[in-house]
Amino acid sequence: AIVVSALKEATDENRVALTPGIVSRLVKGNYEVLIEHGAGERAFYPDQAYTDAGAKVVDRTEAIKSATVLAVINRPSDETIDQLSGGQTLLGLLSPLTDPEWIQSVADKKINALSFELLPRTVSRAQTMDVLSSQASVAGYKAALVAAERFSRYFPMMITAAGTAKPAKVLVLGTGVAGLQAIGTAKRLGAVVSGYDVRPASRGEVESLGATFLTTSVSGAGEGGYARALTPEETQQQQDELAGFISDNNIIITTAQVPGRKPPLLVTQKSVDEAKPGTIFVDLAASDLGGNVAGVKPATTVTTPAGAQIIGAGDLASQLPTAASDMFAKNVQAVITDITDNDQLALDVDDDVVGELLATKDGEIISNRLRTAMK
Ligand code: NAD
Repeated sequence: AIVVSALKEATDENRVALTPGIVSRLVKGNYEVLIEHGAGERAFYPDQAYTDAGAKVVDRTEAIKSATVLAVINRPSDETIDQLSGGQTLLGLLSPLTDPEWIQSVADKKINALSFELLPRTVSRAQTMDVLSSQASVAGYKAALVAAERFSRYFPMMITAAGTAKPAKVLVLGTGVAGLQAIGTAKRLGAVVSGYDVRPASRGEVESLGATFLTTSVSGAGEGGYARALTPEETQQQQDELAGFISDNNIIITTAQVPGRKPPLLVTQKSVDEAKPGTIFVDLAASDLGGNVAGVKPATTVTTPAGAQIIGAGDLASQLPTAASDMFAKNVQAVITDITDNDQLALDVDDDVVGELLATKDGEIISNRLRTAMK
């Protein structure tokens, strides 16, 4: 039988790649499942729940070495990679596009790597495997809550005997999966919400949530429904036009990403400096590569001299770990089922989904997108 393993992630990650619910489905489907001791603890899934679901709870080395498929949330440590042997398969968010050297080293070890960032999202069969969407949806929801919690005023309008409080004004920059969830959640909390995206196609989605769609003179629809990278002149133009919107809002939630690149800077230092005291920036694109807001730091809140807060919130899915793990594990199961043929692993490089999801196989770089990025 195929052995599927999940590990305890690094200490700053609360999610787990397999949940007891998915384990029991896998076990029914004739898979053997190994879970590292404590792997689900931070997502509130104790070892006993995995055992009850039919998994074997084992030490880390056994989970790694016995795996046919090792399912992870984030790229594992070098030490873990060193324990893997050629022919084993690794599945997770491995960030191959932004770190070609690392993925080449995985290929050189003949480890087969499937990376969710490479999923062709427009193919309908891939939708159940779409980790980027499932996790972005969790993060967008949480972004609105984090903003509401930090904000020094109400989100909804409040009419009381002690006066009337105006509703908060929330602006969401980047209205993809995460941005739309943030809009929906902020609306449900009673804020006045507007959304902006460089893809004009997103207007309908924003308006259907009852928010106002803002545009700039820069339009940037790219391939496959994604935004393209803007030229430096377009970026400047966009930043200038966005500045006016930013100073008019209390909460700015930013989610803009361009696949495989550094996130675009949407909020300049000048816009940060001109923000009203008490303004909350929640930057979902914040990572070691940068973010959408000038001065953002990953997983930290920066308070500016003028009294705005910039929250580096690239890790929000991990802050709703049970819901996020449930969806992640479902996506993992969809991939594993797809690459199984008669109880054997079948990694078909010619398949329209698997051939793209595959970063490496048998020492080669497979995904066309990754090959292009590595040229
Ligand atoms: P993403 O996380 O890559 O980026 C978030 C948003 O930022 C996107 O809407 C993008 O257009 C926007 N953005 C990028 N650069 C920007 C800039 N300079 N200024 C303003 N906004 C900028 O995107 P996502 O949430 O993964 O979604 C991207 C697209 O893919 C959307 O059209 C989405 O509906 C689509 N999608 C399709 C499927 C599917 O067909 N199954 C699944 C998921 C997403």
